[in-house]
Amino acid sequence: QVKERGRDGYLLYSAEMEEVAQHSLFIQSELRGAIAEKQLSLVYQPIVDCRGLVVCVEALLRWNHPQMGNIPPSTFIPLAEGSGLIEELGEWVLLEACAFINTLQETGVLLDAVAINVSARQFNQGEFAEDLLKVLHRLGIKPNAIELELTEYALLTNLDVVKQAMDKLRQAGISIAIDDFGTGYSSLSYLQSLPLSRLKLDASFVSKIDVNESSNAIVKAIIDMAHGLNLNVVAEGVETQTQYEFLLQHGCDSFQGYLFSRPLKQADIVNYIESVAVNGHAMA
Ligand code: C2E
Ligand code: MG
Ligand code: MG
Ligand code: MG
Repeated sequence: QVKERGRDGYLLYSAEMEEVAQHSLFIQSELRGAIAEKQLSLVYQPIVDCRGLVVCVEALLRWNHPQMGNIPPSTFIPLAEGSGLIEELGEWVLLEACAFINTLQETGVLLDAVAINVSARQFNQGEFAEDLLKVLHRLGIKPNAIELELTEYALLTNLDVVKQAMDKLRQAGISIAIDDFGTGYSSLSYLQSLPLSRLKLDASFVSKIDVNESSNAIVKAIIDMAHGLNLNVVAEGVETQTQYEFLLQHGCDSFQGYLFSRPLKQADIVNYIESVAVNGHAMA
């Protein structure tokens, strides 16, 4: 639909655009109450090594709205970023994930880390690193129990400032992964200068394994490049045995996707971790 110039030179939006904007505003205002109304929860998806053992779990945010049902994070996270709600949301995620880490420790479940997604805006706001370390200290959580997942959008700002924050986190023991790797627009030179632990190969490459030769080439090249830089590679969105075998054969370090498990509620992920530790995994 066409945007028309109004009499005073303002843009007149079509009814459809107006509806989308209204809907976004509505979701934003509902999100404000979501924490207090206990509509948020975390689910956890296992990341497994080449033996099928769970090395890490990624915390993923869920919002169950009483009228609208489940609203996906791909819808509400960008709105939270745009409205300044992301700090509050991020803080809730952190506290909830820390409570889970304590539960894991009490249950005797051993993992390398729990991975937490941090949005670009959240990471670059104020004193993110200091605040995070303070919270962990207050809760008695060892920083090495945490891995942060950042997308390349977080790096599209003053890299010196980003590096300072990352160095602080890394020195404290927190690991940092680049999420959705390969989809960003930043230059690769940051890979040399930032204290990263791993790259998460974006699901869009994984889904095209064995569909076209060029995707296979990109996957191989990313794995080799990462290893050359001493970084681990996690493949995201692994759904088929074919994808898994290709990745395994080319040296990918760990795997995440529906082939192994969907994101699970807290009690279910604990059962999953324990059962693969005892029985081994069907895929391994
Ligand atoms: P992400 O961090 O890249 O997370 C992976 C997404 O892929 C998750 O979607 C997960 O459920 C989905 N997934 C995992 N395995 C498969 C598979 O085999 N096939 C397919 N088709 N999908 C798979 P989800 O949970 O909807 O989250 C979407 C995005 O929202 C996340 O992408 C992340 O960027 C963001 N997000 C989720 N939770 C949080 C959070 O707590 N904080 C922030 N800042 N962002 C979050
Ligand atoms: Mg992630
Ligand atoms: Mg990702
Ligand atoms: Mg993604």
